[in-house]
Amino acid sequence: MTTEDAMPCYNCGARQTDPVRGASPWKRGVRAESQVLICPDCQRHDLDLDTCETCGSSALICRLGEVECRSCGSVRQGRSGDPLVPEVPPGLSAEVEAALNRVLGRA
Ligand SMILES: [Zn+2]
Ligand SMILES: [Zn+2]
Repeated sequence: MTTEDAMPCYNCGARQTDPVRGASPWKRGVRAESQVLICPDCQRHDLDLDTCETCGSSALICRLGEVECRSCGSVRQGRSGDPLVPEVPPGLSAEVEAALNRVLGRA
């Protein structure tokens, strides 16, 4: 069992019990750019899930700050997610270059 299997329903907090083999009646989605699980009961309600900007599908998966659509395959960056690789601050490249020059004896 993975931790993902133990995730409760985001809406009512129910936990997936006695997982069945094959297709689960639980639905995965992305809400506020977080991966969520929706229990079969809550799937009948109006769900406030994120949808694909390209095709409108709610069959999204969220990973590494990106949201990928499983219907059309489009990937977008999460709006609120911090970039995994921070941008190099201005001036750092010059410092690195100067340090390299010192190491290489070119200063
Ligand atoms: Zn639920
Ligand atoms: Zn899509």
